[in-house]
Amino acid sequence: MPILGLLGGKAVINQPFSPSKIIGKEEIAIATEVLNSGNLSGFFGSWSERFYGGPQVRNFEKEWADLFEVEHAVSFNSWTSGLVAAVGAIGISPGDEVIVSPWTMTASAAAILAWNAIPVFADVNRETYNLCAESVIKTITPRTKAIMMPLIFGSAEGLTEVKKIAQEHGLILIEDAAQTPYVHTAGRWAGTIGDIGGFSLNYHKHIHTGEGGMAVTDNAEYAEKMRLIRNHGEAVVEDKGEKDITNCLGFNFRLGEIEAAIGRVQLGKLPSVVQRRFQAGKKLAKMLEKLPGVRLPLFDEDMSHAFYVFAIGLDLEVMGVSRDTVVAALQAEGVPWIYGGYQNIHLQPMYQRKIAYGRDGFPWNLHPEEEHPDYEKGICPVAEKLHDQEVICLQICQHDYDAHQTELVGLAFLKVWKNLEELRAWESAQSSTATGNP
Ligand SMILES: *Cc1c(COP(=O)(O)O)cnc(C)c1O
Repeated sequence: MPILGLLGGKAVINQPFSPSKIIGKEEIAIATEVLNSGNLSGFFGSWSERFYGGPQVRNFEKEWADLFEVEHAVSFNSWTSGLVAAVGAIGISPGDEVIVSPWTMTASAAAILAWNAIPVFADVNRETYNLCAESVIKTITPRTKAIMMPLIFGSAEGLTEVKKIAQEHGLILIEDAAQTPYVHTAGRWAGTIGDIGGFSLNYHKHIHTGEGGMAVTDNAEYAEKMRLIRNHGEAVVEDKGEKDITNCLGFNFRLGEIEAAIGRVQLGKLPSVVQRRFQAGKKLAKMLEKLPGVRLPLFDEDMSHAFYVFAIGLDLEVMGVSRDTVVAALQAEGVPWIYGGYQNIHLQPMYQRKIAYGRDGFPWNLHPEEEHPDYEKGICPVAEKLHDQEVICLQICQHDYDAHQTELVGLAFLKVWKNLEELRAWESAQSSTATGNP
């Protein structure tokens, strides 16, 4: 049996994988064209034809809406900006509550605080890593206005259940589909199931424009409100004749023409990029399916997972070793980029100390009579355990993961699992050295 890399054997992967490279000649050509035009942004922050941006921005939005079969697509200079606009667009008020997962990128929750509304964390499902429907129900209060559902790692599992809850309770559903573009679920595209959804175009995502984001909705009012928030709404509403000026406080969340032009080319590549990730994820899942103590990502039909991250849940009791040891062994076989997923957001100092605006606990002190919501460790036991102990993540989006690379990663896992006994021995030798016991 080949010796583990960790124990001095030869690693399965002995050449680092190159980073994913999806910017090519066409992006360079179109960016050059925009540069030559001299028009790097078509936006004016006042009510005019140019309130909606230049030709690249508008075409990009139209093409995005067409591909995703949705009425409106609104571009932003980041998806964080898009999330802020989305939360504002639903008419949120200070002190309203929005239910969100704690195990996601920090902006999913910060966008709620941006309107002085209050994030309430519901736990995630241990298998899907997305919001758990039962936990969402438990966190609903009379102040709950919306549910923000991050579709984490490329999976839209659980979305229809959460949508049902939103409908039953009269709540608005925002999908943070940053990691889940072009994923099929319940006969639609993930991101277009809720009232508003959206995607990130930052450098690390499936397709990118350096920085950027795109919101989608079938609701014309939400779309228009997002455009006002994107582009100095307070200076626009009067000339525009806007009657309802709720949350029209605007920012500069506008996407540039170069980025939009690059985005148009990137959008053309999106189906094949996601298809490639899906094939890699499917192959890897097949290779690992018999390994003991391993929970694999859930997917069914074609393109039902975008595999932004290939997350694996470890059943450590079955394996008899710690996650750190497994990670060390996999890294020693040359498997790139393994980590435990997102920090639980409720454990960040801002939530622990309830210090967001100023020093006195605003906006939580809008309801001074209450301790609610509680951000103590323990409120989301599943998310906490997944992060602290159970999950390892392969960032397959960082590399192209062709068939050969996928095969190598699979073989590295098989090798480590074949040597679990050696690993256990290694681990106990480590810990006895650490404690000084013989
Ligand atoms: C990337 C990401 C964001 C933020 O997108 P930016 O474009 O970087 O602002 C938000 N939510 C999730 C789940 C993400 O993965």
